[in-house]
Amino acid sequence: MMTDYRNLIDGEMVDNGQWLDVVNPANEEVIARVPSCGKDELDRAVAAARRAFKTWRKTSPEERQKVVQGIAAAIKDNADELFRLLTSEQGKPHAQAQQEIYGAAGLAAAQSTLTLDDVINQDDDERLSRTRRVPVGVVGGIVPWNFPVMMAIQKIVPALIAGCTIVLKPSPFTPLTTLRIAELIKDVVPAGTVNIITGEDSLGPLITSHPDIDKITFTGSTATGKKIMEGASADLKRITLELGGNDASIVLPDADVEKVAEQLFWSSFSNAGQICVAAKRIYIHEDIYDDLSKAIAEYAKGVTVGDGSQQGTGVGPIQNKKQFDRVCELIQDAKDHGYQFLTGGNVDPSGTGYYVPITILDNPPEEARIVAEEQFGPVMPLMKFSTVDEVIQRANNSEYGLAGAVWTKDTDKGIEIAEQLETGTVWINEFLHISPFAPFGGHKQSGFGAEYGVDGLKEFTYPQVITLKRDALV
Ligand code: NAD
Repeated sequence: MMTDYRNLIDGEMVDNGQWLDVVNPANEEVIARVPSCGKDELDRAVAAARRAFKTWRKTSPEERQKVVQGIAAAIKDNADELFRLLTSEQGKPHAQAQQEIYGAAGLAAAQSTLTLDDVINQDDDERLSRTRRVPVGVVGGIVPWNFPVMMAIQKIVPALIAGCTIVLKPSPFTPLTTLRIAELIKDVVPAGTVNIITGEDSLGPLITSHPDIDKITFTGSTATGKKIMEGASADLKRITLELGGNDASIVLPDADVEKVAEQLFWSSFSNAGQICVAAKRIYIHEDIYDDLSKAIAEYAKGVTVGDGSQQGTGVGPIQNKKQFDRVCELIQDAKDHGYQFLTGGNVDPSGTGYYVPITILDNPPEEARIVAEEQFGPVMPLMKFSTVDEVIQRANNSEYGLAGAVWTKDTDKGIEIAEQLETGTVWINEFLHISPFAPFGGHKQSGFGAEYGVDGLKEFTYPQVITLKRDALV
């Protein structure tokens, strides 16, 4: 039976009688409906957030922490229901959906402890000068479809901890788990502090340009990020943008082929490659290229592509038809150019569900679209390199600068290379590890500002300097 999910506005679960269908990408069946909102619902949500801000901004760090810990507990206590729902709307295998749900609860619990302490700039006979951080106000959060729950939580939690209130818009492709969480936290968060409303992409620009929203925090594509920056410029809203990436992994000749094969595989194919920080270009030193590419292709043969709700599935479907078509187009382009495939490459567009076989390319040229563009699908180009200088230059030759990785037993060399990569994060001998306490953000066109840690929290605040002249007047 199809379920209707409702929005959270001013502490109530509501709908407007207009609906959007949500599709399961594993079988293309409509599984639920969510409200299709426009200006009226947005105005109501923003007004509620503005009212709630008056009180919430005055709460103590302890009160905020308690509320956020309540959110973490609500997610954790209902994890079983939530991860199944997440798989049904997003497509990711159950084990990966479970990781996302527990990861979101863990992130909320960890970030509930973050604080922004005052800083004393001067304290002497002449003057006392202190910087405090004050909340920016009402935040508009806009979220994509690849990690819908994690992205929602990484916007809601720092907003609340900083003393802001929020109106959050999930992706129209994946709103269900977020709305179920909204229902679970309805009585945990004070009315109006967290509002979650759903709608088509067209709801996004209404949020970006809303005169009573003070800040936008957005995760999604670079193309949309640019539009958001433009929309937010009218009244100089604060913005944080987490955008696309074309992350390079560099494998040095001393890497252990058998060990890294499996890790490199999952660095590209977790969540069917739909991760902003997935390895999207893998550069392997020529001395081990043949052995390692063979080992990765061999490992890939043991991984099942299929419905994420079925046991044994390692790679689920692409989340939506538009992205499926884009990945198919990139694969077709590689075929048209005669690039070599180690595995995959044969998509059946007439089948049910948005499945793309695990596709690994054998040393395509740098200018291949499948190398130069963010694929955001289960596709991995392996490329040969000869020297460290050459590979650094190739890795940095991108408009993106989100993350990268180096694989080597020589940790000093790994760090030396990491310091030359033009990205916000570099992993050495691991991948996809994001700490709740370290800033995460992109260089170049991968983003603007940062999330996570104290740096991320600061983005929800303004600095205010209060200066007391001690030797004046009295
Ligand atoms: P998208 O940009 O199409 O959509 C993201 C969100 O923006 C959705 O909620 C959408 O409805 C909304 N939106 C669309 N048009 C808008 C507009 N004009 N104004 C305001 N909002 C608008 O991105 P997507 O396809 O959902 O996600 C995939 C992209 O997200 C990839 O490029 C990926 O790399 C990126 N991503 C980045 C990170 C990161 O942390 N850097 C994380 C996940 C995904």
